[in-house]
Amino acid sequence: MSVLEVKHLKKSFGTIRAVQDISFSVDGGEVFTIIGPNGAGKTTTLEMIEGLVTPDQGEIHFGDWNWNRDANTIKKMIGVQPQSSAMFDLLTPEENLHLFSTFYSHSRPTEEILELINLTDHRNNHVKKLSGGQRQRLAIGLAMISDPDIIFLDEPTTGLDPQARRNIWDIILELRNLGKTIILTTHYMEEAEKLSDRVCIIDQGLIVAVDTPSALIEQLSKEREVRLSFLDGEEAAIEGELFLKTLDSVKKIERDDTSLKLWTLHPEDTLYDLFKFTKENEYKVEQISIREKSLEDVFISFTGKEWRD
Ligand code: ATP
Repeated sequence: MSVLEVKHLKKSFGTIRAVQDISFSVDGGEVFTIIGPNGAGKTTTLEMIEGLVTPDQGEIHFGDWNWNRDANTIKKMIGVQPQSSAMFDLLTPEENLHLFSTFYSHSRPTEEILELINLTDHRNNHVKKLSGGQRQRLAIGLAMISDPDIIFLDEPTTGLDPQARRNIWDIILELRNLGKTIILTTHYMEEAEKLSDRVCIIDQGLIVAVDTPSALIEQLSKEREVRLSFLDGEEAAIEGELFLKTLDSVKKIERDDTSLKLWTLHPEDTLYDLFKFTKENEYKVEQISIREKSLEDVFISFTGKEWRD
C-alpha cells in the first residue's frame, strides 16, 4: 500500500531548474532509493517531501495527509536524519538521543536505539570524538527517536570508507526488518543495488527510470561483455580479433595490446567457437571474465551518459 505519493514536483532556484517534473509513489515497508549524480536534484526532492522546501508546483500526499492541512500529523509519521551540525558535539550519543527525545510526546527507548545503531560501546564518549561513520550512525538514530514509520536518509554514506558504509547498510536493512519505510538518496550505484526494493534514477531534475534493481537491469539489451587476454603476445590477440569479427553473435570488439573486450549476444557459443580457434592455433588465453550488468549500465543505457560519481 502506498504511504507516500508525489505528483509533478517542480522547484527552481533562480534560473536553475533543480527539479523539473518528478512523480512517484512509495509503498509501506520498502527501501526506496533516489539515485543520481551530483546536482541531479535528490536533496531538493527530499527536502520538498520532508516539508523543508516549498515546491513551486506539485502535490505531496502521505496517505490521506498533506502538508497544507496535516503538518503536525506528518511530523509524527516521519523521521529525518539531521545534518551533522545539528548534533551537540560536547554531549555524548546517549545525551543527544535523550535531548532529541524531549522534542516528542512519544519516543523509542534510547537503549534500543544505541543497540540498533551499534553505538552502545560509545554511548558515553563525546560526539566530537566519534568517527565519521559513528556520527552518521548517530544521525540515523536521531531520525528514529520518535519511532516514525517513514525514515528519510539523505546520502548517509557519502565520504565514508567501505567498512563504515557497510555498517550503515546493515542498519538500513535492520530498519527495513522492523517494517519501516526508508527513503534514501545516494550517488553510489552499488549501494542502491544492494539495499533497495525499488530505485528511482534521476538526472537533471527528471526521472530516468523507476523499478526494482533486477527489473531495471533486465531491461538492458541481452549483450554481455566478455574480457580475455592472450598469453602469446599481440600477434595472437590480433588473430583472435580477426576470428571473432567473423562471428555473427559478436557485436563489438575492442583490443588493447594482448587483451580483448567483446560484446556478444551468446557468450557460451562465442567462447566455444573462440576456444576451438585457439586450440587449433595453439594459442593460450587467460583471465576470461563475463561482466555482470549493474545499475550503472542502466543509467548509461537510459541517458547515453557515463555515470559521474
Ligand atoms: P548532491 O548529490 O551533490 O547532493 P543533489 O542531487 O542532491 O546533489 P540538489 O542538492 O538537489 O542535487 O541540487 C540540484 C541543483 O539545484 C544543483 O544545481 C544545485 O546547485 C541547485 N540548488 C540546490 N539548492 C539550492 C539553493 N538553495 N539555491 C540555489 N541553488 C540550489
